Amino acid sequence: MNSATLVVSLDRAASRATVSRVLELLGVEGDPDPGLRWHDEGFLTVRPGRPTPEETLHRVRELPGILRVIRLDGGLAAGRSEPSVIELPNGRRIGDGGLSVIAGPCSVEGEEQVCGIAERVREAGAVALRGGVFKPRTSPYSFAGLGELGLEFLAKARARTGLPIVTEVLEPGQIDRVAAVADVLQIGSRNMQNFPLLFRVGAHPSARPVLLKRGLAATIEELLLAAEYVLLGRLMAGREPRGVILCERGIRTFDQSLRFTLDVGAIPVLREKTTLPVFADPSHPAGERRFVAPLALASAAAGADGLLVEVHTDPDRAWSDGPQCLDAHGFASMMKTLRELPAAVRAR
Ligand code: PEP
Ligand code: MN
Repeated sequence: MNSATLVVSLDRAASRATVSRVLELLGVEGDPDPGLRWHDEGFLTVRPGRPTPEETLHRVRELPGILRVIRLDGGLAAGRSEPSVIELPNGRRIGDGGLSVIAGPCSVEGEEQVCGIAERVREAGAVALRGGVFKPRTSPYSFAGLGELGLEFLAKARARTGLPIVTEVLEPGQIDRVAAVADVLQIGSRNMQNFPLLFRVGAHPSARPVLLKRGLAATIEELLLAAEYVLLGRLMAGREPRGVILCERGIRTFDQSLRFTLDVGAIPVLREKTTLPVFADPSHPAGERRFVAPLALASAAAGADGLLVEVHTDPDRAWSDGPQCLDAHGFASMMKTLRELPAAVRAR
């Protein structure tokens, strides 16, 4: 049985006759065929039930209106074997065996706020600055970020500190604006299965790396398939299918003691299933700042490639998620403890 997926990209002007011929050659002309999917973006994916000889692929490639035929043996996210190190504009490398910490406020609140926090997290060893300007909020009445103005403040924080920017993009129409400032595009938990958004961040001409957070009730398999959409977007934009960071951020379970249940076990499982860098966010599951460092240490010990941590210089007055934000001292002392973890614990 052949599990290869064939990706056939077609010129918009490809005729119906060409399409029928492709399906006929690949033996999937049945309507509807479960192994066949049309993608609005101008390509189709096919999983023929039996191996497709090279010679057949060649004949498909020769048809008028066929742009590319790519054969995927296994997934782009799961089962990959090539290393997936991501280099940030400041030269810091994610996924090269070290622990990369991205830190900053839940929300950008103003220029001084975000620049002040950026300076403190950089001093403590963060590799990049996080900060939301387009925030997904459970209640429509909660503060949802400063939007465009917040992007300007993030750009200033980068100019002042040299830290690359990680910020969330909520919907496809924002990608251009966010990618103009962000060095890494964050996809939040609530959007983990927003498939058009996933594909479009992947296919975006900026090719910005994507930090993909696990959904509140998503399985590991679903997280990997979400990453597959991003990587397929990259591939269809003519780029290497790389540049995705997976982030465990706690899931919903029956236990309500903490805000979410950090699934520490997801870290070694993901590391076994993929070479994409695996992060953990200890802040959102902790819900309260005293639990952040223990969850961060557990994640590092479980083999995380990095952490996404909420930090605020005045957490009690933060406009969102204050209770779980570390202050600058708390962050610096957690970073020190992480550096002191015995090599045997950090071995990977
Ligand atoms: C965040 O990181 O600010 C955030 C909103 O996280 P999540 O999408 O995991 O809830
Ligand atoms: Mn938050």
